[in-house]
Order: sequence, then C-alpha cells, then structure tokens
Amino acid sequence: MESAYIGIGSNIGRKIDHCKRAISLMGRLEGCSVRVQSPFYRTEPVGVEGQDTYVNGVVRVDTDLSAGTLLNCLLEIEADMGRVRRKKWDARVIDLDILLFGSRIIKKPDLIVPHPLMHLRRFVLTPLLQIAPDLIHPVLRKSMQELAGLLPGDGQAVETYERS
Ligand code: ATP
Ligand code: CA
Ligand code: CA
Repeated sequence: MESAYIGIGSNIGRKIDHCKRAISLMGRLEGCSVRVQSPFYRTEPVGVEGQDTYVNGVVRVDTDLSAGTLLNCLLEIEADMGRVRRKKWDARVIDLDILLFGSRIIKKPDLIVPHPLMHLRRFVLTPLLQIAPDLIHPVLRKSMQELAGLLPGDGQAVETYERS
C-alpha cells in the first residue's frame, strides 16, 4: 500500500464539477481509496497565454495499484470524462497527474515521479501544502512547505475557490 498524491485540474466548462467527478471516479477504482482532499483553488494558467482560469486541487489516495496501473486508470478517467489531447498544455476538461507515489522515484518514458514540474507550480504546491506540509520531495529532499517558500513571489496567481 502506498499513499499517492494526485494533482487535479480543469479549465473548461463546469470546472469544479469536473474536479469533483474525477475524485469520485478515483474513489471507485479497485484498490484505490481517496483519503484526503485539499480545498479547491482558482488559478492562473501557467506556461500558456489566453486560456481560461483553472480550478485545481490535490488528493491523497491510498492504493495497492502499481504507479503504472494507477496512471493508466487516471488516463482512462480523463478519456471517459471527454478529455481530448490536441497540443501540449491545451485547455482541458480534466487533468490528473501523479505528483508523488510514496517516496518512489520513477523515470520511465511515460511516467516520471515525482512529477518533474510540481515543485515549480504554485497551483500544485498551494493545495498540497494544505494536506501534507511536511511531506518530503524524494529527489529535492525538501518539504512541500520549503518548496513553496522557494517559489518566486510574483506570477502564478492562486486564490481560494469561491463559487461565482
Ligand atoms: P504536465 O505534465 O506539464 O502537467 P500535461 O498534464 O498537460 O502536462 P498530459 O498531456 O496530460 O500533460 O500528459 C502527457 C503524458 O505525460 C501522459 O500520457 C503520461 O504518460 C505522461 N506522464 C509522465 N509522468 C506523468 C505523471 N507523473 N503523471 C501523469 N502523467 C505523466
Ligand atoms: Ca498536468
Ligand atoms: Ca497530465
């Protein structure tokens, strides 16, 4: 059994409903239980211009699945929810990334864990900080709290989600 942290994001349509639906579908996976859920945040798209804002959150799941099987299940949930991949960092109904899988370090062509950009993304670290501030990044050997403290002060706006 491992605890894995999954990053969730949506920036098309009823974004928060998509995030909640994805969490519910993760909970229905055999050998996978959603244990802790962060608050949701409204965040500015990072790395692209002119896209709608995102809703982001993070959950901890406890799972007997291997990391590779978990990834396949997450990709299947994305596809079932209507995600279409066109170009890199395109707008999406739902995005589910494995941020951390226990303290494992995985470097496969289709799966890199810890997620290689997680420590640079406020939309990941802010929710993660709420549920696991003392968790240690197994490669960088810093806590989520420390990593968040290293982010540049400007850019990457992240605010608590409020219904609008
Ligand atoms: P980013 O990875 O920068 O957040 P993205 O989430 O938009 O970008 P996707 O198009 O959703 O990228 O994913 C492309 C591929 O990334 C997936 O098919 C998967 O094989 C691979 N991948 C590698 N490492 C991971 C990971 N830790 N979690 C999820 N997917 C991963
Ligand atoms: Ca992503
Ligand atoms: Ca992804």
